[in-house]
Amino acid sequence: MADDKERKTLEERNQMSDLERLRHSCAHVMATAIARLWPDAQFSAGPPVEGGFFYDVDLKHRISPDDFPVIEAEMKKVVKANQVFEREVISREQAIEMAQKGRLAALEERDVPSVFKIDLLEEIPEGEEISIFKNGDFWDLCAGPHVGRTGNCKAFKLMSVASAFYKGDASKPQLQRIYGTCFKNKTLLTEHLDQLEEAKKRDHRRLGRELGLFHFDEMVGQGLPLWKPKGSIIRRQLQDFIAGELDKQGYHQVFTPHIGKLDLYRTSGHFPYYEESQYPPFAEREALRKLTEDDSSCGDLMNALRQGAVEGFMLKPMNCPHHIRIFASDHHSYRDLPVRLAEFGTVYRWEQSGELGGITRTRSFTQDDAHLFCTPEQLGEEIQGCLGLVKTVFGVLGMSDYTVRLSLRDPDSSKYVGDPDNWDKAEDALRDAVQSLGVDYTEEPGEAAFYGPKIDFVVKDVIGREWQLGTVQVDYNLPERFDLSYVGADNKPHRPVMIHRAPFGSLERFVGLLIEHFEGKFPVWLAPEQVRVLSISEKHNAYAKEVTSMLAEAGVRAASDISDDKIGAKIRLARLDRVPYMLVTGAREEESQSVSVRHRDREDLGTMTRNDFVGQVCEEIRTRSL
Ligand SMILES: [Zn+2]
Ligand SMILES: [Zn+2]
Repeated sequence: MADDKERKTLEERNQMSDLERLRHSCAHVMATAIARLWPDAQFSAGPPVEGGFFYDVDLKHRISPDDFPVIEAEMKKVVKANQVFEREVISREQAIEMAQKGRLAALEERDVPSVFKIDLLEEIPEGEEISIFKNGDFWDLCAGPHVGRTGNCKAFKLMSVASAFYKGDASKPQLQRIYGTCFKNKTLLTEHLDQLEEAKKRDHRRLGRELGLFHFDEMVGQGLPLWKPKGSIIRRQLQDFIAGELDKQGYHQVFTPHIGKLDLYRTSGHFPYYEESQYPPFAEREALRKLTEDDSSCGDLMNALRQGAVEGFMLKPMNCPHHIRIFASDHHSYRDLPVRLAEFGTVYRWEQSGELGGITRTRSFTQDDAHLFCTPEQLGEEIQGCLGLVKTVFGVLGMSDYTVRLSLRDPDSSKYVGDPDNWDKAEDALRDAVQSLGVDYTEEPGEAAFYGPKIDFVVKDVIGREWQLGTVQVDYNLPERFDLSYVGADNKPHRPVMIHRAPFGSLERFVGLLIEHFEGKFPVWLAPEQVRVLSISEKHNAYAKEVTSMLAEAGVRAASDISDDKIGAKIRLARLDRVPYMLVTGAREEESQSVSVRHRDREDLGTMTRNDFVGQVCEEIRTRSL
């Protein structure tokens, strides 16, 4: 049975992990059950995938989740029978004959051939062994490997059904792709299902919509997020917090435009090498007019842009070239270094539409970017600083579970730019810095870019999912390409080293992670609405409003709910909106100039004077407590 993408070699198949082997075997169990229920089913491919397996099937009956219990019940019978997965090597002729009789991926001979299996057979290279796997009466063309018996596939569940073109080709038949998952035991399966349930509850796309944080608009464009006022509060708080830490570390904030000349990116190497992942370039108006007069085609224009015959511009895919030009605009002596330029810089990348997902994968995003220009000797301390910031930010957000990946060069390769001695120093500096963080890290030789070693951050959220964030990357290449220099103590020009660092990746992705991590229940300092004042009845609306303005004056983001709803309904709504504090105000509170405080997810906090509450919440915001 072949994968619907590229055919895997036998060697690759044998490297299937135990779990993949189990899941693929479970795909056969599912196919057996479907063949029992609908003998006309035609199967194509059923590989293991991330989190489970699928099998593509062509079937007149449209399978829906309503059919899952029936299919699962049939699968249970197959599992219970504990059939052996038997492998048999057959000749190509035998295989074709079986397929002609409809005997592949089937329980018995049929009137119709096993059409997809015939096609897949043709793809098996001449000379490669052809095997079938049998469990009971179900025979399937398959290279394996499998587990020993169907009884191993006890802990399974069908997950979903989607449509998929045969071999992913829209000109080929549309099949039904049935997804399932399988684990070694019931406990692991339950854990997995709970995690999926939890992930669904926390899905930032849904919460982002429900809480009014961001919006994607067809008229604006796919993958181009619009931050709504409430989402913008979160982003701004985060941005201010990070910027404040950068100020303490001696960074300088800069602003640069969202476009740049193609020449700039030609020098940096971003154009034309990464053209596929960028928005197409655009030309100057005058040049366009000329080309139109000459009746030039679109292809001519692109060629002229590529060759530099026509002046072109591009939406910036990276902030580095702009920052480099800021550095280059001044003369630098070794005494001025390091120079640290920081910008929340928005960049534009052409992601395939299938790869876009909420705000974690977008076509425009804002990096927490900075570029450091330093001497080779300063590298260690600068990297230390970058990691210190990560530690602080994660600490404040209560994310203690993160790991670091250290990408080093392959000592046997000569593809790297820069002096090998400097590479050694840089790699040592990165390692030292990572070790001082006191978190788990892995070293990955051969994973460094040709221009320098780097550090990547992977953080685990509360439900144990890993999120790849940003990097700290050493660069010996761009200073070379842009011919950057500083005057050393010897009065001679020297080449600075550059560090690119965007430890949280992008604000979009980071906020997406935070939404899911906190399930939308942001700590008070980040919450778009920090306090909601709820009047018990109309008589107390004035007092509720008074308390609200008092909070607003103290800099607290507060609103009042003076609708006609019952107090219970008002509390429910505030909880749904994930507002951290609810202040209930009625006759008793008004008389004593106090408020009854409820927290989103803590016990009832009782009554306190309004002054005390304001003081307390302000302190909580100031210290960014969790
Ligand atoms: Zn198989
Ligand atoms: Zn950069």
